[in-house]
Amino acid sequence: MSSSEIKNFGILGYPVGHSLSPHMYMAAFKAAGFPNYNYTLLPMQTGKLYFAVEGIKNLDFRGVNVTIPHKTTIMQYLDAIDSDALVIGAVNTVVNDGGMLTGYNTDVAGFLSALAEANFLPEECHAVVLGAGGAARAILWGLCKKRAGYITIGARNPIKAQALANDFLNHGNVESFDWLSDEFKEAMQTADILINTTPLGMFPNVDDMPPVDLKLLPEGALVYDIVYNPAETKLLKTARELGYPTLNGVSMLLLQGKESYRLFLGETPDMKIMANTLNKILHGE
Ligand code: NAP
Repeated sequence: MSSSEIKNFGILGYPVGHSLSPHMYMAAFKAAGFPNYNYTLLPMQTGKLYFAVEGIKNLDFRGVNVTIPHKTTIMQYLDAIDSDALVIGAVNTVVNDGGMLTGYNTDVAGFLSALAEANFLPEECHAVVLGAGGAARAILWGLCKKRAGYITIGARNPIKAQALANDFLNHGNVESFDWLSDEFKEAMQTADILINTTPLGMFPNVDDMPPVDLKLLPEGALVYDIVYNPAETKLLKTARELGYPTLNGVSMLLLQGKESYRLFLGETPDMKIMANTLNKILHGE
């Protein structure tokens, strides 16, 4: 397939200078025979989001990805919102159909596909989730959809963690604790998977990690860090050295990108090209 038509895409957020999305999408567009498709950085601070949304329509963008701090606030300006995004309360992908904007959350699909690729079955599992922000919400919904047996949230702010747990009580067995509490330490002892959704350990703060004792986890528990830069965070390195299987955030990033691309263009991108592009950047090749 090839197209000489110009189509515009972008990533809307602040800051976005570090985003790998332009590289990932541009490589996939080129491979698919769309050399005139553009994917650009759309840095936009809070306060003027309405004008950015009008810009998406009036400049005829086919779609945008949305990141911090607009994932929730953008919802009020959209014409329709997909059911996953409604439950999560956050949108990371907006598709423009001739001025009609629809919001989606592809983090759920990315997270669940990454688990499937790692051969981890979330059904009936006990999942421990670190952090209570936007990504934690998407992950909680993914776990609930797959009927995880039990979900324990651990965070530095127990009030925020409890509020998140309350939002999902109707969908699954969810509890929350201060991650330094004895109750949380006890919960770690029966976990099948521990998922870090905080930015602790992300570049440039690569010496940070969440304050949890991985030795409490049962043998064989999967330690999953959704941070993708660096590819092996301090949390994952510690887990690997203790003998636990590990999974980083690269596959979730790729697979949520795959889903957004499919929503934008109705076809699947060349995943090999996308993965090679990301790995080249992440490994400085
Ligand atoms: P967010 O909404 O800001 O939530 C961050 C969470 O981490 C909050 O619970 C926050 O706690 C906690 N946190 C932040 N700094 C902390 C610190 N120094 N100590 C303890 N807790 C801290 O962010 P998000 O959108 O959920 O993203 C979180 C991370 O996931 C980022 O690193 C992002 O790059 C990554 N991510 C990866 C993918 C992927 O595809 N692989 C997708 C989405 C996100 P408070 O509420 O107390 O501030």
